[in-house]
Amino acid sequence: MLTELLTTESEAATREAVNRASSTLHTGEPVALPTETVYGLAADALNPTAVARIFEAKERPSFDPLIVHLPNKTAYKDVADVPEDIQKVFTQLIETFWPGPLTIVLPKKALLSDEVTAGLPTVAIRMSNHPVFTKIIRNFGGPLAAPSANRFGKMSPTSAASVMKELEGRIPMIVDGGACSRGLESTIISITAGDPKPAIKILRPGPIGPEELKKFGKVDKVIGNPAVEENAPEAPGLLENHYAPTTPLRLLESPQDFSPEEGKRYALLSYRGQEKDGYLDLADWVELAILSPGSGRLAEAGLRLFHVLRQLDELGVDEIVAEPFPARGIGFAIQDRLKRASIKSQS
Ligand code: AMP
Ligand code: MG
Repeated sequence: MLTELLTTESEAATREAVNRASSTLHTGEPVALPTETVYGLAADALNPTAVARIFEAKERPSFDPLIVHLPNKTAYKDVADVPEDIQKVFTQLIETFWPGPLTIVLPKKALLSDEVTAGLPTVAIRMSNHPVFTKIIRNFGGPLAAPSANRFGKMSPTSAASVMKELEGRIPMIVDGGACSRGLESTIISITAGDPKPAIKILRPGPIGPEELKKFGKVDKVIGNPAVEENAPEAPGLLENHYAPTTPLRLLESPQDFSPEEGKRYALLSYRGQEKDGYLDLADWVELAILSPGSGRLAEAGLRLFHVLRQLDELGVDEIVAEPFPARGIGFAIQDRLKRASIKSQS
């Protein structure tokens, strides 16, 4: 299959990309689209055959549910039920964070097929704020299932070129909307009523950090995603192994944790490249990749993480060594992704 790359470099090109992507989606084919978090592989969420094409292209196991994207804030009513006892906090959250990188798990409506939710009684929904994605989903006119546009177990793509590397020949179309502005997958939460405050569980850390969610309820940071893992007993821990480069990765807690082995080639993934942090002199690095040079900004580190990890992965070193990141704001999500990547390489 030929994979077409549509640009959005001019208004005319964008109009054409929007129309063509939308009509391809209507025929039941998947299309890779830019979002503010990472590139997604989108298909008509209400068409089980279209949804099956996503799983096929990604080689994704059927027990891993998809996120459903909405064309507007009120469209959640078409796919999910909001229990009365959380309606107030749900409304506050979507008024604050939508459109944006917050995904909320809710009881699903019957019309959503089991293919989308992997048989779970719940559905994960969000509304993207990417201008190109927004135009396409509005033109399409309904919910789109859209997991990250990578093959299963690989890192999420943050540019159209990375999608091409992952899925060329497997999907008909990619819309290039430039580099993603957040670069890390959305924060996923579930909400339950609580006394005196609602309880918000973070199922996957992301760009919206625990500090921002605290204003709306009692925040609980869950390690792993129990809703999904309980549903997939045949693959315990497998979902932990997401987000990993092929090269083994070691996440350090402090500089004392590491001394190089004779003859091995290492690359360093550094937060801000500062001597005083104590990592730069630990080895004769083949490559020193700095995510946010200078005093260090976590938002910049987050948006560059997967892009830089892909580059380091192509060097053919024996190991990628990662400095720890401050676990606040999006830094909590960066630490989460690096921990998962290092779990994979140790197993
Ligand atoms: P992505 O690959 O970025 O689309 O993310 C999909 C992830 O969302 C899955 O791997 C799950 O961790 C999570 N997810 C999707 N649906 C649900 C759900 N109903 N309950 C809990 N987590 C979900
Ligand atoms: Mg994914």
